[in-house]
Amino acid sequence: MNELVYGLSALGISLNSVQLGQFETYYQELVDYNSRINLTAITEYKDVQIKHFLDSVSLVLAGIKGDEKLLDVGSGAGFPGLPLKMLFPAIQLGLLEATQKKARFLSEITVKLGLSGVEIISQRAEDTAQNPLYRQKYSLVTSRAVADMATLAELTLPFCAVGGRVIAPKKGDIEEEMDRAATAVKKMGGRVFKVIKVELPGLEDSRKLVLLEKISNTPALYPRRAGIPAKTPLI
Ligand code: SAM
Repeated sequence: MNELVYGLSALGISLNSVQLGQFETYYQELVDYNSRINLTAITEYKDVQIKHFLDSVSLVLAGIKGDEKLLDVGSGAGFPGLPLKMLFPAIQLGLLEATQKKARFLSEITVKLGLSGVEIISQRAEDTAQNPLYRQKYSLVTSRAVADMATLAELTLPFCAVGGRVIAPKKGDIEEEMDRAATAVKKMGGRVFKVIKVELPGLEDSRKLVLLEKISNTPALYPRRAGIPAKTPLI
């Protein structure tokens, strides 16, 4: 895990032996599962350390507390939720993933990593966000590579308690995407708090973290039915 360890040192983070073992197990299981079920196109040892593990942990640059109640929307193979949980074991983590096969991997890997306090929810975000058990219940919501910001605002902000935040990693020039998202962010009761640049070893390709803040309740109308936020974004 040399690449990860090196990248984390730039963040002032060092891993203990348990965490190092967990990242190693995560890599092995990811690649093994991936040979049967497509989870990721990134499988080289070095690439996974940087593009999945370090990239996930880079969210600490937006300020993550060790006791968050965190929901990762569209978690796929667990990014960025699981690496953050490995770093901060006291986080109460929800991994929301619509694809059953991926959700099965998430259940299995959570057990193999010996993690407790992780809930796997295999549903669409639009449906889960209308369930009172999950609606406005999280201090932090993350979502990587799931949708553009206008759609993402509708899929994430309804899960945030007022005072909570959304962290969405993005790449490249996002000015236009952020402009398009202004209406959706506002309608969901949010505001754009800031955009943070990520500059870490191996991640020099113009990565950013968009930080949204939840300032008022999301109207009951939102999110709309499954598929609508992506098909007809609130722009
Ligand atoms: N976040 C992971 C990552 O960065 O590696 C996975 C990204 S993958 C490109 C997008 C994932 O979001 C897919 O696994 C997909 O099933 C899930 N997804 C897309 N829309 C969703 C929705 N409305 N509700 C729940 N999951 C969704």
